[in-house]
Amino acid sequence: MAVSTGAQIGDALRAVVGAANVLESAEEREYYSWDLSQEPLAVAEVVARPGSAEEIAAVVRVAHEAGIPVVPRGGGISYTQGFEPASGAVVLIDTTRMTRVDVNVEDLYVVADVGVTWEELYLATSAEGVRTPYFGPLSGRFATVGGTLSQNSLFYGSGVYGTAADCTIGLEVVGAGGTVVRTGSWAHRNGSPFTRYYGPDLTGLFLADTGALGVKSRAAIRLIELPLVNEAISFAFDTFAGANAAMAEMARLQVAAELFIFDPANHAIYRKLGFSFLEGVEWSLHASVEGSDETLVDAQVALLRGIAGRTGREIDPSLPLAMRADPFGGGLRGFVGTEGHVRLPVHGVFPFSKVEAAQAAAAALVESRRAVIELHDLRVTYLTAVSAGFVVFEPVVWWPDSIGPYRARHAPADMVEQFGSAPPNLEARAAGTALRREFATMFSAMGGTHLQVGKWYPFRESVESATFETLGAIKGALDPRRLVNPGSLGL
Ligand SMILES: Cc1cc2nc3c(=O)[nH]c(=O)nc-3n(C[C@H](O)[C@H](O)[C@H](O)COP(=O)(O)OP(=O)(O)OC[C@H]3O[C@@H](n4cnc5c(N)ncnc54)[C@H](O)[C@@H]3O)c2cc1C
Repeated sequence: MAVSTGAQIGDALRAVVGAANVLESAEEREYYSWDLSQEPLAVAEVVARPGSAEEIAAVVRVAHEAGIPVVPRGGGISYTQGFEPASGAVVLIDTTRMTRVDVNVEDLYVVADVGVTWEELYLATSAEGVRTPYFGPLSGRFATVGGTLSQNSLFYGSGVYGTAADCTIGLEVVGAGGTVVRTGSWAHRNGSPFTRYYGPDLTGLFLADTGALGVKSRAAIRLIELPLVNEAISFAFDTFAGANAAMAEMARLQVAAELFIFDPANHAIYRKLGFSFLEGVEWSLHASVEGSDETLVDAQVALLRGIAGRTGREIDPSLPLAMRADPFGGGLRGFVGTEGHVRLPVHGVFPFSKVEAAQAAAAALVESRRAVIELHDLRVTYLTAVSAGFVVFEPVVWWPDSIGPYRARHAPADMVEQFGSAPPNLEARAAGTALRREFATMFSAMGGTHLQVGKWYPFRESVESATFETLGAIKGALDPRRLVNPGSLGL
């Protein structure tokens, strides 16, 4: 069907994905258009829900012909305006109907549709005795492969294997006009997606682009043998500097799959959930070690214990063990604070040498904003986590507010019942979002970079102009009419 005006787009999309998969009610468009940031941009004109890579390509072609931008969305559990439309005249592409997973145990890769969640991917691969090396964010019950590779992400497995992008070996991407491009050995006419490098790294070009350069439809990710042994250790420290120094030394061994620090305010939350041994603990450092041989894992744990034990006090390791036992369950409590606060992370990615300074600067910023923090009942907690070779330092800013459409649909039922009808608190929201942006600006001034750039982090302002111009030229070549997620990455 030829489409000449925006008004006909709904009919053209229905012809491609079926009537049930085109959403036009105000409520659905708003739900799909707004992320968790509490900083909504526009509401999409229409939401299309393709069920296959072919349908993604057809949706993109329909929109391109009509001259209407497309914006891809995965699980929608992000908070940097990446999928929020810069203007309302867009087709929002929800990928969550796409859930096919093909596991190739012999060649050690999995091909997943972009709408597969990390929990689904873990279940499908572990049933075959394998796993992706990085195996998901804490939000992996909702976060999809497509959204996560477009943001880049770290947590489970990252201490040894790095980020989601580091573990990706091939992509299938639908370009602005609907052309399907494959990367790495997947692009070989007679090949398969078994290795990332075949000519220049086009896989890398599309990773972490927050959907600015194309709509991913499928991804090939490396597999490893499923580790059957998992052990954990935890240590208490009086200062962040002490915990951070031990963490850095442990990270050099690259044997801890997860290696992270919690702050005293986080401990207060976990104590309420039953982790009473955190009473009196200031900063805590946690490490998970995995493998297929118990003797080897024991030896690696002993090495880490030797480092942390020099300056820290060993405590019960139930926290990292509980996270491993239900990797994607705990994150859900992070939707809404226990007293009706929304929680919004902001982070800087730093080399080991700058983490202590970043934490000191964050503490000084919080101290200097003490009056406004107390006035609006703001809170700040901290998570510090290692990915192979670097550190993410993440303050989480809380404020009392209405919970918004995403949390209302997905937060645990008891939380929605308790806080679902809380009215908007615009003054606290202004103070909380301002503090979040102050953290981002400060980290950028210290040379920190960011995952999840979206339309929120100051990417354009922070990179050298020649670099941004090069990226702009690539965007111009791939999407000359600026019809793919306009505004993402500042493009
Ligand atoms: C409680 C909680 C815990 C979290 N834990 C972690 C964590 O441990 N580690 C971490 O790194 N992050 C974490 N996050 C942040 C976030 O959940 C992750 O970044 C997650 O990967 C987002 O995935 P998604 O599918 O929801 O992406 P979305 O929010 O749907 O999209 C993110 C970006 O990707 C783009 N995109 C989506 N699909 C495609 C596609 N098919 N093609 C091209 N572009 C696309 C969108 O346009 C957008 O710019 C957490 C968030 C919450 C709320």
